[in-house]
Amino acid sequence: MAVKDIVDALRDVTVNNMRLSELIKDIKLIGSNLEIVYRLPQKGLEEEIKQKTYQALENIPEVKTINIRFAEGVPEVPPAFTRRHVEGVKHLIAVGSGKGGVGKSTVSVNLAVALLKQGYRVGLLDADIYGPSIPTLLGVKGERVHVDEKNKLIPVEKYGLKVLSIGFLLPSEDTPVIWRGPMLMKALTQFLFDVNWGELDFLVLDLPPGTGDVQLTLAQNVHMTGAVIVTTPQDVALADVRKATSMFKEVNVPILGVVENMAYFICPDSGKKYYVFGKGRVLEFARAYELQILGSIPMDPEVAETSDKGVPVVIAHPESEVSKAFLGIAKLLSEKILRR
Ligand code: ADP
Repeated sequence: MAVKDIVDALRDVTVNNMRLSELIKDIKLIGSNLEIVYRLPQKGLEEEIKQKTYQALENIPEVKTINIRFAEGVPEVPPAFTRRHVEGVKHLIAVGSGKGGVGKSTVSVNLAVALLKQGYRVGLLDADIYGPSIPTLLGVKGERVHVDEKNKLIPVEKYGLKVLSIGFLLPSEDTPVIWRGPMLMKALTQFLFDVNWGELDFLVLDLPPGTGDVQLTLAQNVHMTGAVIVTTPQDVALADVRKATSMFKEVNVPILGVVENMAYFICPDSGKKYYVFGKGRVLEFARAYELQILGSIPMDPEVAETSDKGVPVVIAHPESEVSKAFLGIAKLLSEKILRR
């Protein structure tokens, strides 16, 4: 009996739509004594979590005693109405992913431009402190931001988008971001709240990848209309996207849907579709979590090529399959938000 089997047994048990296995902070099997420390997603769930754990493990003979504790210092989830609104912004859409490299920033940029093409006023905020790539993707690298008379940051404008990136504040692209904890949060908070966005219908927020403190703190303190989750169909990406999904659920940020990136490749010679990373896997994940797939974006070398040149693919090649997918996602998303 390995700890993995115990975790597996807790995978099918849910409390408030969260799998117990995903709440485990620490787990140890010492002899036949099992010790589990859970992260408590919400006060008042302690007893239910305990009872469901006992039930799930009662038929495992190797486990004789179970000691359950809850991690201390779990941030309390503030009710949605105490979260701060970003001034001038009607709808804030956070774009998150379980891991890096799945195309989160590419989706953020093209989604923002696609919303713009629908006639909305749109801003894009790059909060990916570990690798701010929006300035490159929009060809505004090296831009400096200025402040207005009220000391508010003035976003840079490109293609009609209002853009702000943490990258604008770094002296050079080789400078690693070494802000930690409070300083980092201060910079990010300033980024959101001390900005003269003007009037925006949508602000797209490109979050850092994963489910660290930055994402959690932002999700808890900023009023978000909802989150869009980007994933590719690979195992590694899908494993992590479950964590991202749970994080948004825990802090009561509605998940607006999933974008499947690099879903397939269209052979330029034959026009045939190849599902390089497997077919139907993101759909399976979305069904299991009751999430809507907003769209599937093909893998296309033009995406990387135009991105490197600082022109989003929806502008450079508006007729391509990729661009059509982005425009479809923007339409679906805006309609879904405005219907709410
Ligand atoms: P993330 O923000 O998740 O780290 P990026 O948006 O920076 O990911 O994308 C990672 C790399 O993959 C970039 O080189 C980007 O150009 C490329 N890429 C993203 N989406 C696609 C796609 N649909 N087809 C081809 N290349 C893509």
